[in-house]
Amino acid sequence: MADNIPRLRADIESIADYKAGARPKPVHGVTTFKVSSNESHHDPLPSVTAAITQALPEINRYPDPSSADLVAAISQQFSVPAEHISLGTGSVALCGQIIQSAAGPGDEVIYAWRSFEAYPIWTQIAGATSVQVPLAADESHDLDAMKAAITNRTRVIFICSPNNPTGQISSAQDIAKFIKSVSPEILIVLDEAYIEYLPDELRSDSVGLYREHPNVVVLRTFSKAYGLAGLRVGYAFAQERISAALRKTALPFGVSTLAQVASIAALKAEAELMERVKFVQQERARVLAALRAQGWTPEESYANFVWLRLNEKTAHVYESLEQAGLSVRPFPNEGLRITVAEPEANDRVIDVLSGLV
Ligand SMILES: *Cc1c(COP(=O)(O)O)cnc(C)c1O
Repeated sequence: MADNIPRLRADIESIADYKAGARPKPVHGVTTFKVSSNESHHDPLPSVTAAITQALPEINRYPDPSSADLVAAISQQFSVPAEHISLGTGSVALCGQIIQSAAGPGDEVIYAWRSFEAYPIWTQIAGATSVQVPLAADESHDLDAMKAAITNRTRVIFICSPNNPTGQISSAQDIAKFIKSVSPEILIVLDEAYIEYLPDELRSDSVGLYREHPNVVVLRTFSKAYGLAGLRVGYAFAQERISAALRKTALPFGVSTLAQVASIAALKAEAELMERVKFVQQERARVLAALRAQGWTPEESYANFVWLRLNEKTAHVYESLEQAGLSVRPFPNEGLRITVAEPEANDRVIDVLSGLV
């Protein structure tokens, strides 16, 4: 190396940038909608903004590094002991903390593909190797193939259910069976970022699963159904040993005071927030029904977005939506993920897509 430039790790420089959902391009005379990041379209609840306002005079101080009040509130809400709860700056950070805690160079991290794009990035940052297992034909995880991909190098397996970006779930029964079939030496992460959008009767008993299995981690977030994507708070349930590792690998003081108080207020307002979730579920059903009536064939979605597999038509449909003031999340040559949002945005999605079947 005679280049006289700073030496960086080659495996870091080659990481693909995280492709965040874009803001809409301005379109003359048209209200635009950002339906690219699966955020809540609802304004923050007044009780949440009041909690933030009340805490503003404290921002010259560091936050409580243990987020004790928030941990206590989560503990109470979900009947999980405080020692089993760890927090991160979004559950995306916890994905990284889990991988860092368990996998390094030579180790393998298994996840479905396509799934959440933070998994390959964190795996590469840790210097570990991604093992991507193609989704089944119905866009859900192929758990048998994931099982078959396990080697003696496997350290972590992610199950994203509902899956981002395809909206499909793995059944409670299949998840439980999968966990039982995997060596207890391998961490199994249940990424439940969208769990609130799934009807109760279809949910895994994920709290029961981590209690029963010391290798299971459950990941949840305040970013989607709780409407706090801008504040960056996620949490994990796992037994003491894993939870301790997740606290050690957390960014010190990462979860801000404002994020802590807002999350506590959001937990208190859960009933109100779940009404909003119900609204999104109804809108999701309406969008899917309208698209099917037009001749599209989307799979069911159990999250706050719909997935259209478009293959080579992806770019064309993306541009049409963009020109109509809608920014959706494109996966080039694969498909589009479209957040279910306010009815006006959903109507426009339906309207634009009607001309493109
Ligand atoms: C949005 C999302 C997360 C978490 O996002 P944070 O804002 O970092 O909490 C985690 N997993 C999946 C699959 C997601 O889509």
